[in-house]
Amino acid sequence: MKPAVKVGVLGAEPGTTSFGEGVAEDHAEGGSSFELGPEWGLERGVGKTCRGFPHMNSYVLRGVYMEKIASFQVDHLRLVPGVYVSRRDRFGETTITTFDLRFKAPNKEPVIDVPALHTLEHLGATFLRSHGEWGKRVVYFGPMGCRTGFYLILEGALDSRDALPLLRELFEWVVAFEGEIPGAKPAECGNYSEQNLGMAKWEGERYLAMLKNPRPENLAYPA
Ligand SMILES: [Zn+2]
Repeated sequence: MKPAVKVGVLGAEPGTTSFGEGVAEDHAEGGSSFELGPEWGLERGVGKTCRGFPHMNSYVLRGVYMEKIASFQVDHLRLVPGVYVSRRDRFGETTITTFDLRFKAPNKEPVIDVPALHTLEHLGATFLRSHGEWGKRVVYFGPMGCRTGFYLILEGALDSRDALPLLRELFEWVVAFEGEIPGAKPAECGNYSEQNLGMAKWEGERYLAMLKNPRPENLAYPA
């Protein structure tokens, strides 16, 4: 029986390596777990190194093990607008799903302008959190820093198709929206006047067209 040591376990999905006490099962390349040697900067004296490391999805930075996080492993050059499962994370009994609501083909078309992005954030958050069926399961909705889309986090282990009806409802509502943008007052927002409802509706309409008739490549990241 091998002694329990500090081990890292490679998850089935990129970016899901975890650490703990255990038995390193297989040190061969492609093995599912590995002893943490000194090269990891985390544990000294374990000694044995694994041939498969450092594997391409992880690296050591200043002695701290860092994963190349899952969303940076998606080939953005082949990504088209769509609804993708970015990741699922489990916390105790609860699983939450992060959706990548991609509006723009990255690095190929102009990104969403900031005022429209901001308006879509206000409208989206308002609609989603008030939704009768899904409202209580909405963890987060907000824009990507690259301005090519949004992240939506929902409670549950979900697939892209699970989110489609909710997203269609949301963007039908955005396209038809008239009146005062929710939360766009100085006391309610950090930059309240930076809004563009017209452009938000234009972007929403464009995204809605994809949502109404998604192709397989709009629902799964490029392999
Ligand atoms: Zn705001």
